[in-house]
Amino acid sequence: MEYVKSKIRDIIDFPKPGIIFRDLTTMLKDAKAMHMVADGLASLYRDKGITKVVGIESRGFIGGSILAYEIGAGFVPARKPGKLPADTISASFEKEYGFDTIELHADAITPDDIVVIHDDLLATGGTMNAAYELVKTMNPKKIYINFIVELSALNGRDVLPKEAEVTSLIVY
Ligand code: IMP
Repeated sequence: MEYVKSKIRDIIDFPKPGIIFRDLTTMLKDAKAMHMVADGLASLYRDKGITKVVGIESRGFIGGSILAYEIGAGFVPARKPGKLPADTISASFEKEYGFDTIELHADAITPDDIVVIHDDLLATGGTMNAAYELVKTMNPKKIYINFIVELSALNGRDVLPKEAEVTSLIVY
């Protein structure tokens, strides 16, 4: 994964002073890096009986869709408020840069499902924790958590549920 990491660009002072933003778009536009990410994600979850991949808007849609396709699972979008057309459940949470809310369709997941929730990047863990709480209300058999990138200095793993097996391809 060193090659993939080398394709991630650091943007200093974005979106505000003092933050180093890890820009994954430079990784996404590199065909070899994308291939390696797809293979890496698939090898983590191929044998786990995953039936649904939940991807968190918006950057989580990219890797989440690739993962779902690779392992033969369905894809479920976790979206910003007001975007999903049918009945929804929602959770609000504190982010690194303010407050936010995410929503899932209330019928997106059933108790038969084995779920992996995917996002591009783990920072403080607030976003993923909210997604996990939402998915958990639908009582799937098991919930896994996955990221492409983990910013370990922010200790996001510590706020994530202990029972979820958390994986990330690249750690800073
Ligand atoms: P958290 O809730 O603090 O863990 O923030 C994670 C969310 O913010 C993810 O949905 C990321 O897409 C986004 N995010 C936070 N920091 C970065 C970054 O440095 N690069 C890319 N996305 C980021």
